[in-house]
Amino acid sequence: MPAEINLAYPRMVDARAAVLLVEGSESLSLLLKTRIEAEADVDVVACHTLAEARAALRARRFTLVVAARTLPDGPDGEIVAAAEKAETPFILLTATFDPSLRSRFARQHLVDYFVKDNAHAAQLVTAAVVKFIANRDVTVLVVDDSASGRSRLTDILRRQNFTVTQTSCAEDAMRRIDAGGVELVIVDYYMPGMNGYELIRKIRETHPSDRIRLIGVSASSDRMLAAAFLKAGASDFLYRPFVTEELQCRLDAHVETLNQIKRLRHLAEHDPLTGLHNRRAFFEHARRRLRDLEDRGRRGSVFIVDIDHFKQINDTHGHEAGDRVLIGAAKLIKAHADLTGALSARFGGEEFVVLSTDLTDIAAEASAEALRTHFAASRFDAADEPISATISIGLAELDPGETLSNALNAADQMLYLAKSGGRNRVVSDRSFA
Ligand code: GH3
Ligand code: MG
Ligand code: MG
Repeated sequence: MPAEINLAYPRMVDARAAVLLVEGSESLSLLLKTRIEAEADVDVVACHTLAEARAALRARRFTLVVAARTLPDGPDGEIVAAAEKAETPFILLTATFDPSLRSRFARQHLVDYFVKDNAHAAQLVTAAVVKFIANRDVTVLVVDDSASGRSRLTDILRRQNFTVTQTSCAEDAMRRIDAGGVELVIVDYYMPGMNGYELIRKIRETHPSDRIRLIGVSASSDRMLAAAFLKAGASDFLYRPFVTEELQCRLDAHVETLNQIKRLRHLAEHDPLTGLHNRRAFFEHARRRLRDLEDRGRRGSVFIVDIDHFKQINDTHGHEAGDRVLIGAAKLIKAHADLTGALSARFGGEEFVVLSTDLTDIAAEASAEALRTHFAASRFDAADEPISATISIGLAELDPGETLSNALNAADQMLYLAKSGGRNRVVSDRSFA
């Protein structure tokens, strides 16, 4: 039974989001509430009339209102004024499409609108709510020397629930991007000093488009500007003044692209069975850690963990039970590695690897020994009866400047000695120094 791959990304710790759902039809209301609560990490408060909605909005603050434009006691969009008064972003459900809604995007708290007669309406509304809530975890940097230009953009972005930072200066923008966390950058063309076009070229030298999306904007009437920006590395370009709804759609598309890339990257870097880093990701992350280690002139250590007689577990309890033992073993090894900030990965089969860069040699050996004892005392809930297992560990020190593959070879030899010495033991190259 493969473990579910965890595709959740770290979220900001904050109060749980709450959605006020205002819909006269009991059945649609129930459908939406169920779907939204299943797909987004939010509480949904449902009510059916304008009066109830007003009372709810007075009583507490909501992250988002999802409301029918026509309600039994408010047939003509009175709910819009109520949401506006509470300064709460809202998604409107209408019976028929009304072109005036499109122009309202520019000035009101309207986030989006959906026509209810669409068979997929519930699905679309739910997706819009999920997206709105998730936008909070996306940081957008607005770079524009004009304060009014910045605040207009910032307003639009905040209404879409993005986390927004802003600066008037290209050099400051570069510093903020280098510091990490920014995923979308909106850059105005004209700025004194480094202009937006030059800034985009500079950002792209070190930040590829699969990590940061760059959107150029300008009030210029020069029609050649868009091509110039795109060739310089911009992901998109828009002329001012914006059609707010168009800007929103484009931002959504960029966020979606980034999320798809994150999902693919996660799949490429993790072992699907245990959720641990795979071999490739291990070498990638190890390289960074070892560079840092070398800079500090410190030693590290690496150990290879191999489950003893694992083939027997498969033979006795079946392959599925074997898989469950591997999942349990991975959890235990990762938790142990995390305690000391070590890097852990599934190297293949029933073999795992742990790289410590913050422990003295003696502490690393003690840590491996503690893992071995803990493992032997554990029972894995993988078959009808709890299964116990032991591990052998080969440990090698990593001197400054030594290659990782060298140390891994040494660890592998130590593992061989641990196996031939009777298993359920740690053998370290220190013992032979
Ligand atoms: P030793 O103590 O010498 O390490 O013996 P062992 O049986 O653990 O080692 P061996 O290398 O002979 O066998 C490893 C077994 O692990 C063989 C392989 O079928 C099994 N295995 C590898 N990957 C998986 C997996 O993903 N799931 C399961 N259930 N078994 C796996
Ligand atoms: Mg084994
Ligand atoms: Mg093996």
